[in-house]
Amino acid sequence: MKEIDQNEFEQELNAHKNLVLDFYSTECPPCEALAPKFEALDELYGNDIRFVKIFRQGNRELAEKLGVRSSPTLLFFQDGTQVGEVLRGGIRRSDIMRQLDALLPGKRVKEIRSKIKPEVIDTEAIVLGGGPAGLAAAIYLAQARVDTVVVDPMLPGGQVATTHQVSNYPGFVDPIPGYMLSHYMAEQAKVAGARMKVAVEVSGVDLEKKQVEVDGYQTIRGKTLLIATGASPRYLGVEGEQEFYGKGISYCATCDAKYYHDKEVVIIGGGNTAVEESEFISKFVKKITMVQQLPHLTANKAAQEKAMADPKIEILYSHEPRGFYREGDKMGVRVEDLDSGETKMLHTDGVFVFVGMKPNLDLVPGDLDTDDWGYLKVDSEMRTSIPGVFAAGDVVSKPIRQITTAVSDGTIASIVMARELQ
Ligand SMILES: Cc1cc2nc3c(=O)[nH]c(=O)nc-3n(C[C@H](O)[C@H](O)[C@H](O)COP(=O)(O)OP(=O)(O)OC[C@H]3O[C@@H](n4cnc5c(N)ncnc54)[C@H](O)[C@@H]3O)c2cc1C
Repeated sequence: MKEIDQNEFEQELNAHKNLVLDFYSTECPPCEALAPKFEALDELYGNDIRFVKIFRQGNRELAEKLGVRSSPTLLFFQDGTQVGEVLRGGIRRSDIMRQLDALLPGKRVKEIRSKIKPEVIDTEAIVLGGGPAGLAAAIYLAQARVDTVVVDPMLPGGQVATTHQVSNYPGFVDPIPGYMLSHYMAEQAKVAGARMKVAVEVSGVDLEKKQVEVDGYQTIRGKTLLIATGASPRYLGVEGEQEFYGKGISYCATCDAKYYHDKEVVIIGGGNTAVEESEFISKFVKKITMVQQLPHLTANKAAQEKAMADPKIEILYSHEPRGFYREGDKMGVRVEDLDSGETKMLHTDGVFVFVGMKPNLDLVPGDLDTDDWGYLKVDSEMRTSIPGVFAAGDVVSKPIRQITTAVSDGTIASIVMARELQ
């Protein structure tokens, strides 16, 4: 792999019709995740496209000129001009290939693709999901000398990586930024010896065979498998929701209510979770406006009565949120009155959305026992209904979903998995 500095860039650009440039940094986990993919693609496309790497911090002038502000960043050039999309962060092989293919004639793309040989990676334990549950399991497995591969379509960390501050994970006196906590967990797993297959496309999972196909050509074959794929909040799908996720919009009262001491919040939802969590949030805040789409609450009667008797809680029935906006250090929530069709703006300090969660099992087909909400049923040793397949963390049917409980599940599963492999 050719490494250049900024003085060589123009020369490279002029000498090669097609060029892909990787701005990398040291001590950069997404750069580490990208490096083997970039090298393998250089081997595959290298006769047609020039692959070069450049150290971003040592070549700031060029980085700034090309608008590169983070590592890794991949830029594509054809006939001296930048083309296609700029790729950043947890870059997947399939995203790079799509861009590379666009630089070449269709016939050549077919020839190159026909050269891709299927690859098999044998291991003892496959951990599907690199959140707290999967990483705790990977640490224990690797420390027990079990060959372990962690597979995640994103960079490791799970929901913690997107959490602003974590103040309830033991061991940290001051709140720790979520990305740092997940970084420590991932590094600890790597140091223990776990192999990471992250920012990959999970293209097939066969639970009976303990096999996972990634990026369409690599098959990871294990003897035991842990499902630690977590759960995702159900989204409302309205303007601003993705943008302010974790930055004004929260999906977890236990985690975030404490940041709203003596402030005002809006809660979206009127079911059991929304109403029960409103009781908890009410201990911290001075006012709650609950936005419920139906003309009544759907929580259990006792919770409803408590909420309605709470002077801090005002309920807007038959209203739905239509958009979330930043207003300085406050949030704006545009709501529609479903009876009149009129909209108005609520001004608040923060928003909690409680319209349900769902387990991340779309890519994990299999005849697994689940509860009524689709979460995996496990026994006390985290075994699922398929022999050799375990589950841990938020994907499991259980009452409390926190980092500590995910880590606890991962610990139990991994110790049992390691024992069974002996
Ligand atoms: C905004 C927010 C703030 C929170 N704050 C706190 C807090 O302060 N304290 C606390 O204790 N808890 C907090 N939580 C809850 C906590 O983050 C979760 O309980 C915990 O992350 C669950 O860990 P997990 O490993 O089970 O799942 P996750 O963290 O969800 O990780 C699952 C991983 O699996 C991957 N994955 C998904 N599908 C697949 C697949 N098919 N194959 C392979 N991998 C897959 C995902 O990319 C992800 O990396 C918060 C949650 C949110 C959403």
